Amino acid sequence: MSKAVIRGKRDSKPLKVRYEELGIDVRLGVVAESLELESMRVLTSAGPVEFSHLVIATGATPVRLPGDGEQLVLRTDVEAAALRDRLVPGAHVAVIGASWIGAEVAHAALERGCGVTGLEYHPAPLAQALGSELGGRFASWWDGAELRTGQSVTAVEPDGVHLAAAR
Ligand SMILES: Cc1cc2nc3c(=O)[nH]c(=O)nc-3n(C[C@H](O)[C@H](O)[C@H](O)COP(=O)(O)OP(=O)(O)OC[C@H]3O[C@@H](n4cnc5c(N)ncnc54)[C@H](O)[C@@H]3O)c2cc1C
Repeated sequence: MSKAVIRGKRDSKPLKVRYEELGIDVRLGVVAESLELESMRVLTSAGPVEFSHLVIATGATPVRLPGDGEQLVLRTDVEAAALRDRLVPGAHVAVIGASWIGAEVAHAALERGCGVTGLEYHPAPLAQALGSELGGRFASWWDGAELRTGQSVTAVEPDGVHLAAAR
């Protein structure tokens, strides 16, 4: 899990799922390339696959911001290891976004002796998911860090994080 990897507690390991026992036909290394709704087929790198019902669960990618400054994101095991290697004592880490993953990174950074500034667009952490009132109850997750809410980051440049004018 990312939490243990970025805290330097362990390396990532694939989870073992017994697909056969569950009656699931898994085709690894196959890329879904397009969809033919009229003939109810997915066209893949290994040929067409017919379906009667379809679930698209292709996930999400982290949002990167404009600018030429270094930005690290956390989605894959490789990104978790890269982040862990940069969380060294004395580093100052700007965490953009104070939701679950931002809090996870802020905690790991504090634990590894970094300074942390959290920058969040909404008035409270987790406000996008939970609303400001409930999100505000999670402010203590940021104890030990400087959390600046109501801040919109416009760019990440080599000289630092650029913020929009105060709203
Ligand atoms: C750092 C981090 C920590 C998290 N911690 C937690 C946690 O503690 N608890 C929790 O509940 N959730 C956690 N989450 C959230 C959780 O990981 C996601 O909600 C979950 O992974 C979403 O699952 P998904 O199946 O929708 O997408 P994904 O996990 O992104 O899976 C999408 C899959 O689709 C495949 N794919 C994409 N395009 C194609 C294509 N064209 N053809 C074939 N295959 C394709 C991809 O290779 C991938 O395997 C965390 C997320 C992150 C990033």
